[in-house]
Amino acid sequence: MTTVTSCAPVRYACDEIADRFYRLIPCLSDSGKRSKLGVKVLLILLHVILVGSVFLLDSDLIRRTKKEPWYTVVYLILFAATLVQYFFTSGSSPGYVIDAMKAEHGTHATVINISKASMQSASRNGNLSSSTNSNLLGRNSRSSSSSWLKLVMDLYPPGSSSRSWTCMYCNIIQPPRSKHCHDCDKCVLQFDHHCVWLGTCIGRGNHCRFWWYIFEETILCVWTGILYITFLRSKDVKEWWEVFFTVLFLTALAFCFIFLVLLLLFHSYLVVTNQTTYELVRRRRILYLRGIPERVRPFSKGACRNIYNFCCSNDSIYTMEAVPTLEELEARAKPYTCVDIISCRCC
Ligand SMILES: [Zn+2]
Ligand SMILES: [Zn+2]
Repeated sequence: MTTVTSCAPVRYACDEIADRFYRLIPCLSDSGKRSKLGVKVLLILLHVILVGSVFLLDSDLIRRTKKEPWYTVVYLILFAATLVQYFFTSGSSPGYVIDAMKAEHGTHATVINISKASMQSASRNGNLSSSTNSNLLGRNSRSSSSSWLKLVMDLYPPGSSSRSWTCMYCNIIQPPRSKHCHDCDKCVLQFDHHCVWLGTCIGRGNHCRFWWYIFEETILCVWTGILYITFLRSKDVKEWWEVFFTVLFLTALAFCFIFLVLLLLFHSYLVVTNQTTYELVRRRRILYLRGIPERVRPFSKGACRNIYNFCCSNDSIYTMEAVPTLEELEARAKPYTCVDIISCRCC
């Protein structure tokens, strides 16, 4: 059994939970009906209700806080840090291809912006042809576009056609691992997914922040659950409605915990193998990944190097990865031997 297939139950479980949630609140799956601010307010409200209620219900917690304030202070710091991380991730750039082009061309940025604005207006009018846009581009734009074309096409296997990698909405050449996001209406580098809760895409620029956000949410969820269980098990006399709300909030926390743990495990697997959700789920749709056996993770540089690059690399968020050559893929497809394990080939 390959690692991809062994990971499949976790992936399907995540998809299933997400699908059920979307069916429960249909506007979340429809970007037209969805309000970014509304989702943010809903999420903050959920946090405040679940954390605030434990202090309202458990009077013993207030007494314990007076005796040992550090316990509650650390908990409240975690609560605040999780919310800060949420807004930090939500406001961060996932690494848009158009910004990578600007970074690449520097002084040509204005020209590209004009070009993109005209392209987006053409896209909105249903005209996906590039003929009108090309007339609007000046000589500078043509030279910067051709240098971008050369830069990006060098990342693909020799003989690839630029037409295959041109985004029909933005009309720009997409580097490997990029994808157009219909919610953001932009192409995203190392596209993972569009997060409804954060109101932004998760890509090369903010995947690490996203992982830390899920991690903090999971710890906060566990800690809040422990506080509710402690209250439920205490010998204090409780009103029926106190027990009712405690059980209700505990049930909600249990669902959140299952979802968060599955998400955290799934994204940890992606980090270790240097993959994205899109590459894993839609592998057969991506032309340059089609012929590669499923057990081969084409962009993986070994578990340790992948984790290092994900957490500690100082590379720009606009750094692009080339599609590995046939020789590199063949080397990665070889099964591990004892010598490979001793020499840490996997790391
Ligand atoms: Zn696009
Ligand atoms: Zn997006």
